[in-house]
Amino acid sequence: MASPSASATSSSRSSVVSTTPKVLVVTGPSGVGKGTLIRELRRRHPEFALSVSATTRPPREGEEHGRDYYFLTPEQFEQRVNRGEFLEHAEYAGNRYGTPRSELDRPLKALVLEIEIQGARQIQRTLPGALQVFILPPDLDTLRRRLVERGTDSPEVIERRLARAREELDEAEAEAAHFRHCIVNDDLNEAVRELEALAATMWGCNFEGATE
Ligand code: ADP
Ligand code: 5GP
Repeated sequence: MASPSASATSSSRSSVVSTTPKVLVVTGPSGVGKGTLIRELRRRHPEFALSVSATTRPPREGEEHGRDYYFLTPEQFEQRVNRGEFLEHAEYAGNRYGTPRSELDRPLKALVLEIEIQGARQIQRTLPGALQVFILPPDLDTLRRRLVERGTDSPEVIERRLARAREELDEAEAEAAHFRHCIVNDDLNEAVRELEALAATMWGCNFEGATE
């Protein structure tokens, strides 16, 4: 199956320019530690850029438009859906989220998408060469504790996210064939090492195969 970078244009000139970055999709329930893991991966490997998604959810304290998300009204989001501007989009806990296609046009070596499971499934179809990793919590009590201790969501929102987490874990189990790569985020360092190892297996040590 073609990797996302297989669309690199061949040319008789010596410089071959890839039109698409390597794509790493990190998915899993809210609060499992996707953001934390990706932050650590990017600290170690700055060549991984983070895809900036669009959402209809209101910004949390400290979040910035264009850096953390593109914060859109439901009408703006719908217009972009209709114009086909998203690589994938999904509804999650009462809000809409989507990856702008334009993220793939950035001149990058590697791009990380941190998205929920419905979006990850769509990426399996649209970018079959992307590396997909499902992050699992050690158990549901730990997931609840992480969501509570993160302190970013109201008790009601946390309950909604936990209910969705149970469904996502069931779905991931049922689709084990698709989410072949699962990492349990218990010890953070160990989980980052597993993620690095997967990326190295896919793209070569130190991601030397990554193109500019
Ligand atoms: P997500 O991006 O999946 O919603 P976060 O990265 O925001 O999750 O993590 C949720 C909370 O769990 C944060 O407070 C984070 O510091 C904490 N956390 C993440 N990974 C671990 C870990 N391995 N051990 C303990 N706490 C963790
Ligand atoms: P949060 O509101 O906590 O930032 O994100 C909620 C969920 O939406 C998380 O599981 C996050 O990974 C997911 N998410 C963020 N951006 C996107 C996106 O562009 N597409 C999809 N499908 N999910 C996203």
